[in-house]
Amino acid sequence: MKNEEFDIWGMAVRQLDTVAEKVGLNANIHEKLRHPKRALIVSIPTRMDDGSVNVFTGYRVQHNLDRGPGKGGIRFAPEVTLDEVKALAMWMTWKCSLMNIPYGGAKGGVICDPKSMSERELERMTRRYISEISLLIGPTKDIPAPDLNTNPKIMGWIMDTYSMNVGYTVPGVVTGKPVDIGGSLGRKEATGRGVAIVTKKLCEKEKKAIDSTRIAIQGFGNVGASAAKVLTQFGFNVVAVSDISGGVYNKAGLDIPKLLEYAENGGALNAYPEYDKISNEEILELPVDVLIPAAVENQIARHNAEKIKAAYIVEGANGPTSPEAYEILFRRGVKVIPDILANAGGVTVSYFEWVQDIQSLFWSETQINDKLTEIMENAFENVYSTYIDSNEKMRLSAYKIAVGRVARATELRGIYP
Ligand code: NAD
Repeated sequence: MKNEEFDIWGMAVRQLDTVAEKVGLNANIHEKLRHPKRALIVSIPTRMDDGSVNVFTGYRVQHNLDRGPGKGGIRFAPEVTLDEVKALAMWMTWKCSLMNIPYGGAKGGVICDPKSMSERELERMTRRYISEISLLIGPTKDIPAPDLNTNPKIMGWIMDTYSMNVGYTVPGVVTGKPVDIGGSLGRKEATGRGVAIVTKKLCEKEKKAIDSTRIAIQGFGNVGASAAKVLTQFGFNVVAVSDISGGVYNKAGLDIPKLLEYAENGGALNAYPEYDKISNEEILELPVDVLIPAAVENQIARHNAEKIKAAYIVEGANGPTSPEAYEILFRRGVKVIPDILANAGGVTVSYFEWVQDIQSLFWSETQINDKLTEIMENAFENVYSTYIDSNEKMRLSAYKIAVGRVARATELRGIYP
């Protein structure tokens, strides 16, 4: 949902400003972190199937590279803006830092409507976009990954395009690839698995029984569907899920494997033959214990924050809660696991994929899930203990840790020249 009150880049900078003030961040480092290191705007002339040429606009932004190469997904959507990509790149800086993986933050996007394009058009647009941003990307420079409306097949085209341009195969240039060309086992469901792991840890800390915890998930794509799958495996009761068409709700719980199969075959949830139908507004306001917004940003805002009935929100999407809503939820005692922690499973397994590609040595899915669990649990423990000690918002605790690590790296490296 987009609206005038919503300024995503302003929101990202305000979040940083708040942390900077709380931790007394060095003013020079603070100023540096308020700006992206680089932002590239590219034109992407693409031959459409009818022979005409459509010029799409794309972006690649690197917010900060002080802790390592850039890392961040590529999204294809009509609503993509430079400000959105800048904000998402900044959030990637904090996310990689919070997980303590050796990356900086980056993000990319193309303004397009992938649903109205043929696969050949999408492929030509992707390959030209990657050629245009190849100035910035590379396995030691900046490593893209999937995001909204991009998938392993597209990551395969990205790997191939970059490799064709340099003349040899470079699997480590992008993550989220199909397993047969250097992708990692476990990557596809890593973000959703991470969401499930932190939800489980949260319930342990808050002494909530898993089998009586009811969960609603907005968004049934990569993140939402995988989270639903793993949460169900953990024994949680997922009672509502939605996609862009709307959603389904059943107080007693949903048959998630059946819904996954239905969605994988392209079915829209508002046309699912069983269960009560609900809108994307209604799913947010259901009487559940845990709400997982896993679709797009700014879903919980001033207009509906008072109506949220869940005691806990686990942010599967990036930026689903506006700062105004966050204030209201905090006052009402709703605990929010922030996006930079909750959805960091994807970037963590992306990191594993990159390490495996560079070493040409591949791990089993069990090894990957175990390592992911360890990293997610450590990050959760770190944030939760900071949060409990300080009695502040959990997002602030996460940001203090994340910004603190980046600031230390910047300080140790110094300002060039
Ligand atoms: P996706 O395209 O696979 O799925 C998005 C889901 O949300 C779909 O079910 C879609 O129908 C639904 N949706 C789209 N617009 C909506 C709207 N306006 N209202 C309600 N539902 C809507 O995308 P994804 O990869 O699952 O990403 C979802 C969110 O998670 C994004 O904010 C993304 O930045 C974030 N994220 C993704 C990853 C990842 O690994 N894929 C990692 C970290 C964060």
